[in-house]
Amino acid sequence: MLRTHTCGELNISHLGQTVTLCGWVQKSRDLGGTTFIDVRDRYGLTQLIFNTDTDAQLREKSRGLGREFVIKVTGNVIERTSKNTKIPTGEIEIAVTDIDILNAAKLPPFLIEDETDGGEELRAKYRYLDLRRNPIRNNLVLRHKMAQEVRKYLDALNFIEVETPVLIKSTPEGARDFVVPSRMNAGEFYALPQSPQTFKQLLMVSGFDRYFQIVKCFRDEDLRADRQPEFTQIDCELSFVEQEDILNIFEGLTRHLFKTVKGIDLGELPRMLYSDAMRLYGSDKPDLRFGMEFVELNDIVKGKGFGIFDNAELVVGINAKGCASYTRKQVDELTEWLKRPQIGVTGMIYCRYNEDGTLKSSVDKFYNEDELTNWAAAFGAEKGDLMLILAGGADKVRKQLNELRLEMGNRLGLRDKDTFAPLWVIDFPLLEWDEESGRYHAMHHPFTSPKPEDIALLDTNPGAVRANAYDLVINGTEIGGGSIRIHDRTLQALMFKHLGFSPEEAQKQFGFLMDAFEYGAPPHGGIAFGFDRLASIFAGLDSIRDVIAFPKNNSGRDVMIDSPSTIAEAQMTELKIKTTV
Ligand code: ASP
Repeated sequence: MLRTHTCGELNISHLGQTVTLCGWVQKSRDLGGTTFIDVRDRYGLTQLIFNTDTDAQLREKSRGLGREFVIKVTGNVIERTSKNTKIPTGEIEIAVTDIDILNAAKLPPFLIEDETDGGEELRAKYRYLDLRRNPIRNNLVLRHKMAQEVRKYLDALNFIEVETPVLIKSTPEGARDFVVPSRMNAGEFYALPQSPQTFKQLLMVSGFDRYFQIVKCFRDEDLRADRQPEFTQIDCELSFVEQEDILNIFEGLTRHLFKTVKGIDLGELPRMLYSDAMRLYGSDKPDLRFGMEFVELNDIVKGKGFGIFDNAELVVGINAKGCASYTRKQVDELTEWLKRPQIGVTGMIYCRYNEDGTLKSSVDKFYNEDELTNWAAAFGAEKGDLMLILAGGADKVRKQLNELRLEMGNRLGLRDKDTFAPLWVIDFPLLEWDEESGRYHAMHHPFTSPKPEDIALLDTNPGAVRANAYDLVINGTEIGGGSIRIHDRTLQALMFKHLGFSPEEAQKQFGFLMDAFEYGAPPHGGIAFGFDRLASIFAGLDSIRDVIAFPKNNSGRDVMIDSPSTIAEAQMTELKIKTTV
């Protein structure tokens, strides 16, 4: 090896030793007769001291060193006169006797320091330099630790890691597929897996019993902070289990990760019915770091002559603790925020519970103080609180109030990154009505089993059928989801029928799976965790980008390698995508 030690390990116990270090020049200070240089590698930072008075050659070399030069230095470990208690190597320095420049470096386009001056685009273009910075590298180290702990936990429970193919055909997880043209099968395409769903189910038919894979999945969706076109799942499947078993095993995994990686004892994870999550929080992934549950007001506000409430399917609100002091301007600003097209509220009603005990609403014309007292009682409001109320169609208004609740959570500082509120949401509906296509879609995916007692409803009230499906939510982010599967050909065929597939289409697309069900398919179920999201929550980040070594930007581009890009005409011809004229 070129070095005897790393830049992070030398301390007072090494005094007097002759050592050789390799690394990058972080910064250098020339103080006339003495030059100080900080050399950095993945493990830390070590201060070098050059006595340039006595050695002209050393002086020349040390002066030629720029930021990010790659160097190899040999010298003696000595005690520093002014110590730095902030870093592990802060008590020593290396009195350099020899230095080699292993590679010169151009001046980097931004500062390679914890706080950098580089903008997002620039850092993305030079991602390999951004990855030299501690905060980014630490995220990847954290991710690595998590992956190791996932493997440890699952291996101990007899899960077998199996790789499934990447060139497959479409798996319906509700997004568009990325496709790859096949040169050998002109005009035909592979699809990249949106998940290994069908393969893991087939592994259960094969008797693998417990499978897992930390696996790349691909979904061609519009991108957001927590979405990338390619992402990683901790994908699992188990045979001879019921929902309860899966919840227990993966609650165990979640607790194991929090304990071993973050030293946090999560305790037992609460569970909530999907229907309650929607009613109380207007979301299937409620952020339980704070309360502010929805309060439905239909019974006490209707019939008093206020048309907006009278005509609404649902009048529902939240109580913002301590916000009665909001000025008119602040309330108006909040209303404007709600009126943006993304949320689309037409108006917000509010009621202040003033410190002096009086109640003042924006609809005082219709509601007297007694009635407002009933409102306050419904909200459990106290002096100093501000009740915020929306009205409209039930589904829409719940979604809007969810946005308002989260925003108030932010404004009141109730969404602390170091607080973790995990939750199982269970009993999801099996089907979801899609306005655009005018038919039902599988809410999870078409392989999810309905609750046996609800199967009869498939013909009469499909929207009311509940599934054996569950999600793990942490701090308002969906971390994982799964279901008990259908393992019976007839039920699977019925499911496809309800999803609008003709028997021929179902056979063409998923015949292989239904055929497999006829060869002894065990009852099975599974789950997948979004590994990037979980890592970003562990790292306290809003975006998953910085727990991914080489992420794509919001337009799905890798600006470093400049991809996607066009391909040569000849390649297109060979792939029969387009022939040259
Ligand atoms: N395949 C599902 C998904 O990717 C997870 C599962 O059902 O196991 O969301």
